Amino acid sequence: MQNRFIDLYSDTKTKPSPGMRKAMAEADVGDEQKFEDPTTNRLRERVCELLGTEDAVFLPSGTMANQIAIRVHCRLGDEVIADRTAHIINAETGGPAANSGVMIRAIDGPNGVFTGEQVKAALRDPNSRNAPRSRLVSIENTSNGGCGTVWPLSTMQGVAQVARSAGVALHMDGARLCNAVVKSGTPARDYAQCVDSLWLDFTKGLGAPVGATLAGSKDFIKEAWRQKQMLGGSMRQSGVIAAAGLYALEHNWDRLAEDHDNAHHLAQGIANIKGFKIDVPRMETNLVFFEITKPGMTAAKLVDACKERGVGIGANNPTRIRAVTHLDVSRADIDRALRVINDVMAA
Ligand SMILES: *Cc1c(COP(=O)(O)O)cnc(C)c1O
Repeated sequence: MQNRFIDLYSDTKTKPSPGMRKAMAEADVGDEQKFEDPTTNRLRERVCELLGTEDAVFLPSGTMANQIAIRVHCRLGDEVIADRTAHIINAETGGPAANSGVMIRAIDGPNGVFTGEQVKAALRDPNSRNAPRSRLVSIENTSNGGCGTVWPLSTMQGVAQVARSAGVALHMDGARLCNAVVKSGTPARDYAQCVDSLWLDFTKGLGAPVGATLAGSKDFIKEAWRQKQMLGGSMRQSGVIAAAGLYALEHNWDRLAEDHDNAHHLAQGIANIKGFKIDVPRMETNLVFFEITKPGMTAAKLVDACKERGVGIGANNPTRIRAVTHLDVSRADIDRALRVINDVMAA
């Protein structure tokens, strides 16, 4: 019998479970943009409870959440401070420039986590006519490009203090905020209190097929709705997908600890295979990055050879691999993936 494909390419590869599909099929629905979809309204309320925010808006994707937040916070020519590895810089098709006309000031936080001091040093002189205006700081928790590193709450509070005293807004990309919360034990609302806007993704570790929810003050969300409408993100009977989000919050949040354990197990296994370099303790959550040091082996070759043998991983650059654990991957799958990777490297 052919073994099932083990897809460690990303936590976006999760498929809706039978329980989630049942919840979707049975969802009460209405017109979302008229606030008549009871399931979407319930999801918005649930996210507000979780984050302690005044309001929230359901969106098709996390990318749209980032783009809307930047548009609401910034005006043409403003500058956004973000880590050099940030998704808004590297994976949103130049959206901040195209949609909001902003500049980005990239800074280098170790593992994607920068300090209040670094932000202070990057702030522009507000009295300068020549410099762009520092308007927004954007942080990613966990940091994707930073190997899934969790922001310590105190570091985030330090950034928030600097941003507030400079009159600069603070936004959190929470694509994997759930992983940060499960790993650190810091409640989501404590993180949320630091920022002016943030969003949760349902399509990463939480395992839903579509959707993200952007949250913040009533005034912020009112403006976000205008941008959502303009970008074509307003929906109709979205309860069918909001039901997946509600199901995910209830059933798939606490279990993320399992993904973190599996990622640690994977990282340890990788450390024991000749031809790789990995900093095991740096892999705090469900993302595992490692370098190929074997002469002649490239990330692309390794990815292709593993794929042929039933294991999906991703080439992050010519010599760097990213492998991600999630709810469709078991401990036994990790062991099989490690055997496959070992065989490819030994060949
Ligand atoms: C996946 C991801 C996004 C985008 O989310 P989508 O829902 O896929 O649009 C944004 N930021 C980070 C850090 C991500 O990993």
